[in-house]
Amino acid sequence: MRKKLVVGNWKMNGDLARNAALLEGVCAASGQDVEIVVCPPFPYLAQAHERLVQSGVLLGAQNVAAFADGAFTGETSAAMLKDLGCSWVIVGHSERRALFGESNEVVASKLHRVTEAGLCPILCVGETLEQRESGRAEEVVASQLAGGLADMGSSRCVLAYEPVWAIGTGRTATPVQAQGMHEFIRECVRRRGLDGESVRILYGGSVNPANAAELFACPDIDGALVGGASLEANGFLAICAAAAAS
Ligand code: PEP
Repeated sequence: MRKKLVVGNWKMNGDLARNAALLEGVCAASGQDVEIVVCPPFPYLAQAHERLVQSGVLLGAQNVAAFADGAFTGETSAAMLKDLGCSWVIVGHSERRALFGESNEVVASKLHRVTEAGLCPILCVGETLEQRESGRAEEVVASQLAGGLADMGSSRCVLAYEPVWAIGTGRTATPVQAQGMHEFIRECVRRRGLDGESVRILYGGSVNPANAAELFACPDIDGALVGGASLEANGFLAICAAAAAS
């Protein structure tokens, strides 16, 4: 039985005052039968850690350097994230791939740094609309998984299927579309000789309180990576409650 996991990705939003209020609200979700992680922007990790420590809600980062340490101006290492209280790191988010040119190779290096530091990676994969419409969605997702899965055996790696056309667009994959791809991803994990039954696969892409329950009812959807709806405490709490009830 895989415990549901709900991860809030705040992206580049927030300030000290707004974060304080949001963290207060998120803490109200703890104690339910669901694992909860929030990923604030880097400058606010310490603020979040201070509020979340012993709350039951875990702290994650949105990105990490592909290098261990040294002369990499502006970068943040996995060891630093651990030092700041993070236990989770999002790797290969589609915004990083599309806007910052992260290749599958860079994503694999980052994933390696995360597992090396003893943190849990959330590896994001997902196709664009053009790739889906040309029938290449599974091929794209399989190639994004290939490099990353090499490091999975030794870690509590979580996978997140996030169709690019559903992120921040209000257009969610239907439960049938999402379940179909999650089933395929689990099969890819099995084909690599890994334990497909225990790996958690999150769905991400315009998840909100209205669509969460039907997504969580799918047998291969083990939770959600939530962007926009994680910025409003009540909505995020409702998504967590739907996960706990599923
Ligand atoms: C995300 O950024 O990972 C995401 C799924 O965003 P949204 O929920 O806003 O689509």
